[in-house]
Amino acid sequence: MKVQNAHWEARSDWFNSVGREQRIKDYITLANQLIWQRQGSFFAAAMLAAFYFNPITTFTFYIVVALTELLDQNLGRHSKAWDGKDPVVGRQILKRIALNTVVSALAISVFIVNIAVQQTSGGHFTPLFFLFSASLFAVMYNSQMIGILLLRLSVYAFAFLSIAFLDVLRYSPPLRSNIWLEFFTIIFVLYFIIDISAKFYVRYQERLDQMRLIKEENERTKAALEVKRQFLATVSHELRTPLTSIMGSLDLVNHGALGEVPEKMKPAIRIAAKNGKRLANLIDDLLDLQKIEAGEMEFHFKPISVNDFLDEAVESTTGYADKLGIHVTSVPSLHDCRIMGDRSRLMQVMNNLLSNALKFSDEGGSVEVRVQIVGARVRISVHDDGVGIPKDAKDRVFGKFTQVDSSDVRKVGGTGLGLNITKQIIQRHNATIDYVSELGIGSTFFIEFDRLNNAGAESAENVSVEKVA
Ligand code: ADP
Repeated sequence: MKVQNAHWEARSDWFNSVGREQRIKDYITLANQLIWQRQGSFFAAAMLAAFYFNPITTFTFYIVVALTELLDQNLGRHSKAWDGKDPVVGRQILKRIALNTVVSALAISVFIVNIAVQQTSGGHFTPLFFLFSASLFAVMYNSQMIGILLLRLSVYAFAFLSIAFLDVLRYSPPLRSNIWLEFFTIIFVLYFIIDISAKFYVRYQERLDQMRLIKEENERTKAALEVKRQFLATVSHELRTPLTSIMGSLDLVNHGALGEVPEKMKPAIRIAAKNGKRLANLIDDLLDLQKIEAGEMEFHFKPISVNDFLDEAVESTTGYADKLGIHVTSVPSLHDCRIMGDRSRLMQVMNNLLSNALKFSDEGGSVEVRVQIVGARVRISVHDDGVGIPKDAKDRVFGKFTQVDSSDVRKVGGTGLGLNITKQIIQRHNATIDYVSELGIGSTFFIEFDRLNNAGAESAENVSVEKVA
């Protein structure tokens, strides 16, 4: 029950503050948007009436209607400046809307009743139709503020009844005459208008309710994301710092800096160092992911000569490749080609692609890295003849914490984060990444960058630093 009450309190608070501002803004925006449509129909009605009835009174009343429009325009400008915060201004705007509504509804009613007064025979279909259209228009477009709508409809209802009573008073007809039939029809039409205005109002209310729920949901999601970000940052840092010192100490032991390591101890220390490295990789990936998602990863863009860059990338993996017994070759482009990029981030990308190619290949396999110029783009591809990737696995390959291979295939562990980070880095370079693969045959991952022409390279000599958007 308490929860229910809290919900309703939150809801009514929202309607009082945000809701009221939203309603006023919606009301005024719609009123301004429909000005030409409204004025067009009033003008057409005035022309028709001026042709058949007294043009002087018709145009005089029409001009008054048009002048009331100026009041609305003036109010629109005034309320645009309102940021919804000061309730005193809000109340003032509401009062002016109410006043404008009465003035405009009266002007329209007088314009229409004047036509009815001039019409002495054949019923009042024309003015009644005008009044009906004006009411329908109000119902459709003023349902944001039920009070204002009722105010306008009350004035119109008064005009409807005046027209209905006009002939009853003029002719005092018997109950079975057409004049009474018209009178009762008008009452029926009034009921119809009130009924649909209630429906429009309920629909608008539901829309506001949905907006409130979406807003609340959005706030909750933002708060949860912030907690997740902080949690990740804390955990990563608290793990990374002690791990660095553990790895450092193990390194010292491994290299004999602390004395000869007994033979029996060596395998245990090697396993500890290997698993320490895995843990460090995982933490680095988590830190990178969190930085990218928080928009805190910095990029230092500089022109890069792709052939040289590739040599460096291949060289850095030779130790690992030799250990796995895999032959790595690189095929540079015949032309010198340059791209704009952050060298160390792109090295991270190449390390990820190369280590994947190596770890999913069998001993004795081969990996080939190639640079090609494709039109105005430079393509770097990493090809392996390893296990391959099944069809329809793209989402998992580039997803977070997702791996495609079953664990009995993998020789080396992984986090399932590498390609996700890679993709985000690549996108930050306005580049693309994709792959083709066949199970049991192998895979080719390729990334494509815009090629820097010489003029571009010169003007790009200035380093630009950007953060992930
Ligand atoms: P992981 O740390 O698991 O390697 P990645 O994000 O780098 O994470 O790769 C995601 C998954 O994509 C891998 O687990 C693997 O299933 C698949 N994959 C990536 N590269 C290759 C490749 N060259 N050959 C076969 N499968 C690959």
